[in-house]
Amino acid sequence: MSDYEIDYEDSCPKCGHSPLHYRDCLETHCNDGYIDASDEDPINYAPGELESRCHECEGTGTEVWCPHCGANLSGIPAAVDEDDLDEDDLSEYQGELDMPPDEDY
Ligand SMILES: [Zn+2]
Ligand SMILES: [Zn+2]
Repeated sequence: MSDYEIDYEDSCPKCGHSPLHYRDCLETHCNDGYIDASDEDPINYAPGELESRCHECEGTGTEVWCPHCGANLSGIPAAVDEDDLDEDDLSEYQGELDMPPDEDY
């Protein structure tokens, strides 16, 4: 039994695989991509006081992933350029770029 839909229109920006799989976000408190803080912490937050973007679906309400390489593509347009990679990827690249050059004095 499958609990996802198949998107034949888009292909994976990372490995080029098509089709992609997607489903409605399974995050318990996710409401169209946003989580009302009062759902998770009703003691400290009033309903509507604070909404945070869902980290599962990146604020889209839909989880998208690549069945081939397993990349989480939620919120990432299919035709993505490198500037739009998600923050985890960026910080990985950043770490490499920030390495000091190997110079001998
Ligand atoms: Zn979500
Ligand atoms: Zn892929």
